[in-house]
Amino acid sequence: MAEQQCLFCKIAAGQVKSAVIYNGPEVMAFLDIRPANPGHALVIPKVHVPYLPQLPDELNAKLLQLIKVITQAQIEALGAEGVNVIQNNGAIAGQAVPHIHFHVIPRFKDDKVVLTWDPQTMKEGQAEEIQKRLQEKAAEIASGEAPQEMHRHAEEQKPPPEEKPEEPKKKQKPIKVKPRVP
Ligand code: AMP
Ligand code: ZN
Repeated sequence: MAEQQCLFCKIAAGQVKSAVIYNGPEVMAFLDIRPANPGHALVIPKVHVPYLPQLPDELNAKLLQLIKVITQAQIEALGAEGVNVIQNNGAIAGQAVPHIHFHVIPRFKDDKVVLTWDPQTMKEGQAEEIQKRLQEKAAEIASGEAPQEMHRHAEEQKPPPEEKPEEPKKKQKPIKVKPRVP
């Protein structure tokens, strides 16, 4: 998607209003317009990066540092008893805005946030086979032998039809995470 049309690029540039919590030169945090809980924040790089595998390495530490700061702020300023950090890659994984963002969700006793999945049963030898494939590929990528592949499946997905800022809704959206293991 062109950066000019990207909602989070517009937020980063100040062209679309957001409730900013932290505004640094390369990373920022603002409140999610449809929060899972009050204080639900989004942490983004200001540069347009659609998915995690494309994130320049020099931004990793800056993003994680800000995620840590926001987590601590939610605990100290809002009395959060726990915090979930969630990052979706690709529409199939629940990513509606294709500009990388980390959800930082403060958790409170008896809140209505749902993060769950049905555990799958692996076939005989399946875990070992997957472990081997991932081990080899991770070693190859980490050693810099192979160019980091783009998020192929996510790239092929169509951009979401709606790019306008969303209106706040009354009901909180429960977050469901359903990982699928091939
Ligand atoms: P995801 O589904 O992981 O792509 O999350 C996108 C998030 O962006 C959702 O939780 C939306 O509520 C949030 N969002 C969409 N538009 C805005 C906006 N204008 N300001 C703040 N958050 C937004
Ligand atoms: Zn963008």
